[in-house]
Amino acid sequence: MILKVKNLVKNYYKDNEKIEAVNNISYNFEKGKFYAIMGPSGSGKSTFLHLIGTLDTYDEGSVFINNIDVSSLDDLQLSKIRKEEIGFVFQSFYLNNNMKAYENVIMPIMLDKIPYKDKKEKGITILNSLGLEKRVNHYPSELSKGECQRVAIARALINNPNIILADEPTGNLDSKASEDIVSLLKKTNKKYNQTIIMITHNLEIAKMADRIITIEDGRIVDDKWIF
Ligand code: ADP
Ligand code: MG
Repeated sequence: MILKVKNLVKNYYKDNEKIEAVNNISYNFEKGKFYAIMGPSGSGKSTFLHLIGTLDTYDEGSVFINNIDVSSLDDLQLSKIRKEEIGFVFQSFYLNNNMKAYENVIMPIMLDKIPYKDKKEKGITILNSLGLEKRVNHYPSELSKGECQRVAIARALINNPNIILADEPTGNLDSKASEDIVSLLKKTNKKYNQTIIMITHNLEIAKMADRIITIEDGRIVDDKWIF
């Protein structure tokens, strides 16, 4: 088991009102499977994904990554897991506009003690594998939205993570680009046996996953394989 959450609870407090954003979720994610998370806006999907990705703290429960309870880790160990085991993809690509595509891709490994030449080669190899061989030296402003998201995916893949967490990765894309992006995620999911968890509002996109989890009011209300 690579990824598991148990009785996870996250509350927010606003104007003296308690918001139960994640309300006692337990789930075992199977290695190598592609999950889509659906549900109404404000139902807790992003909060849940952030907790899985150790990007935020929770009030109760546990998150296990590779059977390690992440609450037992210190900041350094946690950032190591985040860097080596998890790749993040977001709706707004969060690319640095002053950096070329390959420079964006190698951002997460810039401080690693390997020669720059090797980093660059690694970045270019990943961009090539995602069909961007002709866009390596382009700046984000010179790329389509679909290409920008592919660069962001390349960056998420740079450390060959076991887990990819994607929060509405197609939210800014038209339907053709959306389908291309999810096909790409599916391809890397199969090729590297990654566990992918992707939030989407689009049922057609969600159906490209192996399983659809539906969240409402901070709880999992439905969960089924797609055949
Ligand atoms: P979703 O991704 O499904 O749209 P979110 O996880 O973003 O939902 O939000 C779940 C609930 O938690 C919503 O009611 C939202 O308003 C609330 N919420 C999210 N982040 C915060 C925050 N930082 N402070 C207060 N409330 C928040
Ligand atoms: Mg959200």
